[in-house]
Amino acid sequence: MRKAVDIFDLMRDTAKIKVYEIIREYGPITRAEIKHITGMKLTTLSRILDELSDKGLIMQTGFDVSGGGRRPVLFAIVPSFAYAVGIDISRTYTKAALFDMALKMVDSYTMDMDESCTPQSVIERLAAWLDGTAVDKDRVLGIGIGTVGSITPDGIMKHSRDFPSRGWDMVPIKHMMETYTGLPVVVANGADCAVMGEYSCGKAAKRSGVIAYIIIGIGIRCGIMVDGAVVSGLNEQEDAFGHMVVDIDGKLCGCGNYGCLETYCSIPAIMTSYASHIKKYRSNDDLPLSRLVFRDFCAALEKGDEIALRVADDSAAYLAAGLANFARLLNPQLIMLGGPLINDCHRIYDVAVEMAYKRLYGNGSVKTHIFDEGLLSNQAVCTGAAAMIINTTLYRSGANAMRESRDNTNRLSRIKLS
Ligand SMILES: [Zn+2]
Repeated sequence: MRKAVDIFDLMRDTAKIKVYEIIREYGPITRAEIKHITGMKLTTLSRILDELSDKGLIMQTGFDVSGGGRRPVLFAIVPSFAYAVGIDISRTYTKAALFDMALKMVDSYTMDMDESCTPQSVIERLAAWLDGTAVDKDRVLGIGIGTVGSITPDGIMKHSRDFPSRGWDMVPIKHMMETYTGLPVVVANGADCAVMGEYSCGKAAKRSGVIAYIIIGIGIRCGIMVDGAVVSGLNEQEDAFGHMVVDIDGKLCGCGNYGCLETYCSIPAIMTSYASHIKKYRSNDDLPLSRLVFRDFCAALEKGDEIALRVADDSAAYLAAGLANFARLLNPQLIMLGGPLINDCHRIYDVAVEMAYKRLYGNGSVKTHIFDEGLLSNQAVCTGAAAMIINTTLYRSGANAMRESRDNTNRLSRIKLS
């Protein structure tokens, strides 16, 4: 049997891909509706639909309501025709998931990142998981990876800070993963993948205008899309939002500046603040401060512990200022927040969002819904990474798919944002 990726390859740059993409996006859809979108002649379209059906890419799923006469046939993609792997490599966990062509997750694997998680061992474990899945590898189009820090065009992770294990500096992650799995790999920033995931099949599905996804964990990462394409920040830094200055006389940040948001609202910032509060206010506390971990803080917060609440609310106040600045500047349709700090400390999200709305609209009723947790939670990065490899396969724009879409968007965004 021919590989799924080869079948798409043969259709490259043809009207067949266009028809397939329309059915993937809008299906179930009738022949007349596809004709209306593409402007194709009915004979050409019918020939393409027959060919896509013969190859197993699409199927007839039923009939639309009749407008008088015969009821029109509805076409949809065959989700199991091919699969894509999406991987989220972060400093707290690594998650991999297998998706069908409808971006439905069919299998997944998660590992916590600890001192043993070198790039080599992480990739070995991911490759072993993929070998163990029930899907035939010939059906897998490739692997999308969303990760931390800036990435070179040939898929090398540059100077990624704060991984629990050594070895995460200048990691040729694309090359390593391709060698271990024999599959094509594309690499992008995790935050870009998250916003693309929510845009592909989540809360921001097909939203035009500005949408953003902010991941808060060890650091803060932010991905932005404008009218369906990812926009890059200065020097492609996805951590720019985290280094927004929210206190000019504030704490020293790892970037060399003072008062960056990341020094108030990130897991390390919260743990430092929590430990110093405990030391100050609970000298007889029997919990050894050196062994205090993020999970302890979350548990204390859950129980309504006074100190944990104070630390969370202080942190949320800075996040609120950052969110309000961001919203004022970019006038976004939606800013989604995720990552371990948001998923595990709901209080911080609730307080920050309430304060950000107050900053934007005063004490009156909220006028526009801007802030949201998104639909995909800790699957957002994997989903977007899988969407990225599917898009790359369909459009054959190679490993620079994200970059190219950014270049196009940069021109567009200047018009849209001004
Ligand atoms: Zn900074």
